[in-house]
Amino acid sequence: MAADRRIVYCLLCEKPHENLSSHLKKACMKDNTEEERNAELTKAKISQKEWTRVGRRWEYHEVDSLMNEEDPLRALIDRLKSKGFFIVKDPSESSPAEQRQLLQDVTPWMRSMVAKLKTGVNVATNYTTQFRYFCMGVLSVVYNKSLKSIETFKTAGWVDRQQTSSGVTIQFSDNSVACTLRKEEEEWFELYFTKIRPLALLRQDEYMDDEGCFFLGQNGGPIANTKTDLQRLWKL
Ligand SMILES: [Zn+2]
Repeated sequence: MAADRRIVYCLLCEKPHENLSSHLKKACMKDNTEEERNAELTKAKISQKEWTRVGRRWEYHEVDSLMNEEDPLRALIDRLKSKGFFIVKDPSESSPAEQRQLLQDVTPWMRSMVAKLKTGVNVATNYTTQFRYFCMGVLSVVYNKSLKSIETFKTAGWVDRQQTSSGVTIQFSDNSVACTLRKEEEEWFELYFTKIRPLALLRQDEYMDDEGCFFLGQNGGPIANTKTDLQRLWKL
Protein backbone atom coordinates (compact mmCIF):
# COMPACT_ATOMS: atom_id res chain seq x y z
CA MET A 1 0.00 0.00 0.00
CA ALA A 2 1.26 3.43 -0.86
CA ALA A 3 2.41 5.63 1.99
CA ASP A 4 -0.28 7.88 3.38
CA ARG A 5 1.23 11.07 2.03
CA ARG A 6 0.06 14.48 3.11
CA ILE A 7 -1.30 16.45 0.20
CA VAL A 8 -0.40 20.14 0.26
CA TYR A 9 -1.71 22.65 -2.27
CA CYS A 10 0.72 24.94 -4.05
CA LEU A 11 -0.53 28.50 -3.47
CA LEU A 12 0.90 29.61 -6.80
CA CYS A 13 -0.64 27.15 -9.26
CA GLU A 14 -3.38 26.19 -6.76
CA LYS A 15 -2.95 22.48 -7.46
CA PRO A 16 -2.46 19.61 -4.99
CA HIS A 17 0.99 18.07 -4.61
CA GLU A 18 2.31 15.07 -2.74
CA ASN A 19 5.79 16.53 -2.73
CA LEU A 20 5.36 20.28 -2.78
CA SER A 21 9.01 20.93 -2.04
CA SER A 22 10.15 19.24 -5.25
CA HIS A 23 7.26 20.75 -7.22
CA LEU A 24 8.33 24.27 -6.21
CA LYS A 25 11.90 23.48 -7.18
CA LYS A 26 10.97 22.01 -10.55
CA ALA A 27 8.08 24.26 -11.52
CA CYS A 28 6.46 27.17 -9.72
CA MET A 29 9.60 28.55 -8.03
CA LYS A 30 12.39 27.15 -10.15
CA ASP A 31 14.03 30.55 -10.50
CA ASN A 32 13.86 31.41 -6.81
CA THR A 33 16.33 30.81 -4.01
CA GLU A 34 16.22 27.87 -1.62
CA GLU A 35 15.30 30.30 1.16
CA GLU A 36 12.35 31.73 -0.78
CA ARG A 37 11.13 28.21 -1.62
CA ASN A 38 11.32 27.17 2.02
CA ALA A 39 9.33 30.23 3.05
CA GLU A 40 6.70 29.40 0.42
CA LEU A 41 6.57 25.79 1.58
CA THR A 42 5.95 26.86 5.17
CA LYS A 43 3.25 29.24 4.03
CA ALA A 44 1.54 26.55 1.96
CA LYS A 45 1.60 24.12 4.89
CA ILE A 46 0.10 26.71 7.25
CA SER A 47 -2.58 27.52 4.68
CA GLN A 48 -3.39 23.81 4.24
CA LYS A 49 -3.66 23.36 8.00
CA GLU A 50 -5.91 26.41 8.33
CA TRP A 51 -8.22 25.08 5.63
CA THR A 52 -8.42 21.72 7.38
CA ARG A 53 -9.06 23.39 10.71
CA VAL A 54 -11.61 26.05 9.75
CA GLY A 55 -12.43 25.82 6.05
CA ARG A 56 -14.28 22.56 5.80
CA ARG A 57 -17.02 23.18 8.30
CA TRP A 58 -19.92 25.47 7.35
CA GLU A 59 -22.93 26.58 9.27
CA TYR A 60 -26.17 26.32 7.37
CA HIS A 61 -27.25 29.87 8.24
CA GLU A 62 -24.01 31.25 6.82
CA VAL A 63 -24.60 29.69 3.41
CA ASP A 64 -28.23 30.72 3.60
CA SER A 65 -27.38 34.36 4.37
CA LEU A 66 -24.97 34.49 1.43
CA MET A 67 -27.88 33.60 -0.84
CA ASN A 68 -29.61 36.80 0.28
CA GLU A 69 -26.73 39.06 -0.74
CA GLU A 70 -27.19 41.41 -3.66
CA ASP A 71 -24.71 39.34 -5.70
CA PRO A 72 -24.94 35.83 -4.17
CA LEU A 73 -22.43 34.25 -6.54
CA ARG A 74 -19.80 36.90 -5.79
CA ALA A 75 -20.53 36.72 -2.05
CA LEU A 76 -20.17 32.95 -2.08
CA ILE A 77 -16.93 33.07 -4.07
CA ASP A 78 -15.44 35.67 -1.70
CA ARG A 79 -16.47 33.64 1.33
CA LEU A 80 -15.07 30.41 -0.12
CA LYS A 81 -11.77 32.14 -0.81
CA SER A 82 -11.59 33.63 2.67
CA LYS A 83 -12.03 30.09 3.99
CA GLY A 84 -9.03 28.94 1.97
CA PHE A 85 -10.75 27.44 -1.06
CA PHE A 86 -9.35 28.06 -4.52
CA ILE A 87 -11.71 29.33 -7.18
CA VAL A 88 -9.92 28.80 -10.44
CA LYS A 89 -10.61 30.39 -13.82
CA ASP A 90 -12.63 33.20 -12.23
CA PRO A 91 -13.07 35.42 -15.30
CA SER A 92 -13.04 38.59 -13.19
CA GLU A 93 -9.61 37.99 -11.70
CA SER A 94 -6.00 37.55 -12.65
CA SER A 95 -4.29 34.42 -11.34
CA PRO A 96 -1.99 34.47 -8.29
CA ALA A 97 0.94 33.77 -10.62
CA GLU A 98 0.07 36.83 -12.74
CA GLN A 99 -0.35 38.94 -9.60
CA ARG A 100 2.99 37.80 -8.25
CA GLN A 101 4.61 38.66 -11.56
CA LEU A 102 3.03 42.11 -11.47
CA LEU A 103 4.40 42.77 -7.98
CA GLN A 104 7.83 41.82 -9.27
CA ASP A 105 7.47 44.06 -12.30
CA VAL A 106 6.38 47.01 -10.15
CA THR A 107 9.15 46.57 -7.57
CA PRO A 108 11.66 48.87 -9.37
CA TRP A 109 8.98 51.59 -9.37
CA MET A 110 8.49 51.05 -5.62
CA ARG A 111 12.23 51.45 -5.13
CA SER A 112 12.19 54.76 -6.97
CA MET A 113 9.27 55.85 -4.78
CA VAL A 114 11.23 54.89 -1.66
CA ALA A 115 14.04 57.19 -2.75
CA LYS A 116 11.59 60.05 -3.35
CA LEU A 117 9.70 59.61 -0.09
CA LYS A 118 12.95 59.45 1.87
CA THR A 119 14.29 62.66 0.41
CA GLY A 120 10.96 64.43 0.91
CA VAL A 121 10.27 65.09 -2.76
CA ASN A 122 6.63 65.95 -3.33
CA VAL A 123 4.85 62.89 -4.70
CA ALA A 124 1.53 63.11 -6.56
CA THR A 125 -1.48 61.67 -4.74
CA ASN A 126 -2.19 59.02 -7.35
CA TYR A 127 1.35 57.68 -6.84
CA THR A 128 0.96 57.53 -3.07
CA THR A 129 -2.32 55.69 -3.62
CA GLN A 130 -0.58 53.18 -5.89
CA PHE A 131 2.09 52.79 -3.21
CA ARG A 132 -0.67 51.83 -0.76
CA TYR A 133 -2.24 49.41 -3.29
CA PHE A 134 1.14 47.76 -3.66
CA CYS A 135 1.58 47.27 0.12
CA MET A 136 -1.92 45.79 0.26
CA GLY A 137 -1.09 43.59 -2.72
CA VAL A 138 1.96 42.23 -0.89
CA LEU A 139 -0.23 41.16 2.03
CA SER A 140 -2.79 39.67 -0.32
CA VAL A 141 -0.56 37.77 -2.71
CA VAL A 142 2.74 37.17 -0.94
CA TYR A 143 1.19 36.48 2.46
CA ASN A 144 -2.21 35.24 1.39
CA LYS A 145 -4.10 37.58 3.73
CA SER A 146 -7.84 37.97 3.23
CA LEU A 147 -9.40 41.30 2.28
CA LYS A 148 -10.86 41.47 5.78
CA SER A 149 -7.46 41.00 7.44
CA ILE A 150 -6.01 43.77 5.26
CA GLU A 151 -8.91 46.14 5.92
CA THR A 152 -8.84 45.63 9.68
CA PHE A 153 -5.05 45.65 10.07
CA LYS A 154 -4.35 48.25 12.77
CA THR A 155 -1.53 50.73 13.32
CA ALA A 156 -0.99 49.00 16.69
CA GLY A 157 -0.21 45.82 14.75
CA TRP A 158 2.46 47.77 12.92
CA VAL A 159 3.91 49.63 15.90
CA ASP A 160 4.10 46.40 17.92
CA ARG A 161 5.81 44.42 15.15
CA GLN A 162 8.42 41.94 16.32
CA GLN A 163 11.90 41.83 14.85
CA THR A 164 13.02 38.32 13.87
CA SER A 165 16.07 37.02 12.04
CA SER A 166 14.22 37.02 8.72
CA GLY A 167 12.26 40.28 9.06
CA VAL A 168 9.38 41.63 11.12
CA THR A 169 6.36 39.70 12.29
CA ILE A 170 3.02 41.50 12.32
CA GLN A 171 -0.23 40.47 13.97
CA PHE A 172 -3.65 41.06 12.47
CA SER A 173 -6.60 42.25 14.46
CA ASP A 174 -8.91 39.55 13.09
CA ASN A 175 -6.59 37.03 14.77
CA SER A 176 -5.63 35.43 11.47
CA VAL A 177 -2.15 33.93 11.04
CA ALA A 178 0.66 36.45 11.64
CA CYS A 179 3.09 37.09 8.83
CA THR A 180 6.77 37.95 8.66
CA LEU A 181 7.65 40.71 6.20
CA ARG A 182 11.06 40.83 4.59
CA LYS A 183 13.33 43.82 5.27
CA GLU A 184 12.48 45.62 2.05
CA GLU A 185 8.75 45.07 2.58
CA GLU A 186 9.12 46.48 6.10
CA GLU A 187 10.65 49.61 4.62
CA TRP A 188 7.70 50.02 2.22
CA PHE A 189 5.20 49.65 5.03
CA GLU A 190 7.13 52.01 7.31
CA LEU A 191 7.26 54.66 4.58
CA TYR A 192 3.55 54.26 3.98
CA PHE A 193 2.98 54.64 7.72
CA THR A 194 5.25 57.64 8.29
CA LYS A 195 5.01 59.54 4.98
CA ILE A 196 1.78 58.64 3.21
CA ARG A 197 -0.76 57.75 5.87
CA PRO A 198 -0.34 61.15 7.65
CA LEU A 199 -1.27 62.88 4.36
CA ALA A 200 -4.54 60.94 4.30
CA LEU A 201 -5.18 62.05 7.89
CA LEU A 202 -4.66 65.68 6.86
CA ARG A 203 -7.39 65.27 4.25
CA GLN A 204 -9.72 63.67 6.78
CA ASP A 205 -13.24 65.02 6.93
CA GLU A 206 -14.51 66.31 10.26
CA TYR A 207 -16.88 63.41 10.88
CA MET A 208 -14.38 60.77 9.76
CA ASP A 209 -12.50 58.48 12.16
CA ASP A 210 -9.49 56.40 11.10
CA GLU A 211 -10.48 53.73 13.66
CA GLY A 212 -6.82 52.93 14.15
CA CYS A 213 -6.67 51.26 10.75
CA PHE A 214 -3.28 51.05 9.09
CA PHE A 215 -4.45 51.55 5.52
CA LEU A 216 -6.52 54.66 4.93
CA GLY A 217 -8.49 55.80 1.92
CA GLN A 218 -8.31 59.23 0.29
CA ASN A 219 -10.70 60.75 2.85
CA GLY A 220 -8.65 59.59 5.82
CA GLY A 221 -11.11 56.86 6.83
CA PRO A 222 -10.57 53.08 6.84
CA ILE A 223 -10.39 51.63 3.36
CA ALA A 224 -13.81 50.56 2.21
CA ASN A 225 -13.19 48.95 -1.15
CA THR A 226 -10.21 46.69 -0.68
CA LYS A 227 -11.32 44.40 -3.43
CA THR A 228 -11.67 47.22 -5.97
CA ASP A 229 -8.36 48.75 -4.84
CA LEU A 230 -6.59 45.48 -5.49
CA GLN A 231 -8.32 45.01 -8.83
CA ARG A 232 -6.93 48.41 -9.82
CA LEU A 233 -3.48 47.24 -8.80
CA TRP A 234 -3.69 44.09 -10.92
CA LYS A 235 -4.69 46.17 -13.90
CA LEU A 236 -1.66 48.47 -13.66
ZN1 LIG B 1 2.70 25.23 -8.17
